[in-house]
Amino acid sequence: MATVGFIGLGNMGYPMSRNLLRGGHRVVGYDIAALARDRFAATGGEVRSGVAEVVREAEVVCTSLPGPAEVEEVYLGPGGVAETGRPGQLAIELSTIGPTLGRHLAATLAEKGIGFVGAPVSGGVEGAEVATLTIMAGGSADSFALAKPIFELLGKNIFHVDEDPGSGYIVKLLNNFFIGFYTEAVAEALALADLLGFDKDKLFQILNVSYGRSGIYQRNYELFIAKERYEPGFALGLLLKDLTLARAMAEEQGARLPIFERLLDVYRQAVEADYGPRDMAAQYLYVKALQTGRGA
Ligand code: NAD
Repeated sequence: MATVGFIGLGNMGYPMSRNLLRGGHRVVGYDIAALARDRFAATGGEVRSGVAEVVREAEVVCTSLPGPAEVEEVYLGPGGVAETGRPGQLAIELSTIGPTLGRHLAATLAEKGIGFVGAPVSGGVEGAEVATLTIMAGGSADSFALAKPIFELLGKNIFHVDEDPGSGYIVKLLNNFFIGFYTEAVAEALALADLLGFDKDKLFQILNVSYGRSGIYQRNYELFIAKERYEPGFALGLLLKDLTLARAMAEEQGARLPIFERLLDVYRQAVEADYGPRDMAAQYLYVKALQTGRGA
């Protein structure tokens, strides 16, 4: 079994790294947060003191970081994957970033003989825990073949989207484009149900077998709103990050997306009102607060 490096041991990275350990790999990891490092060590991971230390030891390096800024730092910054890596290594980038950055990372690493697969995931923390993630991978056929045994320990639906290292990110941003709309629809419909005095459990029972259903209605309602718990999960701030990336992707194509623009404004206001660290299901709380004039 290979020595796998794992950088970014947060809500997604931690359960994914644990599945690699369960799969029999030796996993060396790093996270800037001490709590994340301790949790990883407690499950059998070997903590290293920085990105360079992880990259030096690993044959395959996985990253699961908040967004483009952190990904750029870890790959292209001093002591990063590009600087410290060696020919024959493989980088599997599992965060949600834009396709342009994915392509740039692939090209930079290729100059050093390091393979790259841009492989964002969907399925949430729940899916990461039980290894049922959907994985949308872009990269050369050779790199994908090398990454596949790792993917099989992390997910269930594994797609080699295209040889373009940006292709997985395109699919992922379109996925989160839907998530943005659905999450707002759930928030507004349930806030309205409350104003109507309608029982939300009964509503879910009926609509979950009607065309009003969606994976996001089920997730946001069953796992968060019904339990009145909003620990992420998938933080609202990360959703806004992904929608902003989707907007940049749309702008490059000259797309006109009128409702999406408005949606972005609504999420920006929710994040400004401090809902960013909560799970995206808390958009429901933000919309409810608007009813009483406390939202924005
Ligand atoms: P998170 O914030 O919980 O985890 C990110 C981790 O990266 C944190 O522990 C943080 O300390 C660490 N980190 C930040 N900068 C670092 C650096 N320079 N070096 C090392 N570690 C660093 O976020 P998450 O929810 O685990 O999401 C990770 C990625 O996966 C994001 O790009 C997100 O959009 C994507 N994603 C999340 C979900 C979800 O449901 N949470 C689902 C699919 C995709």
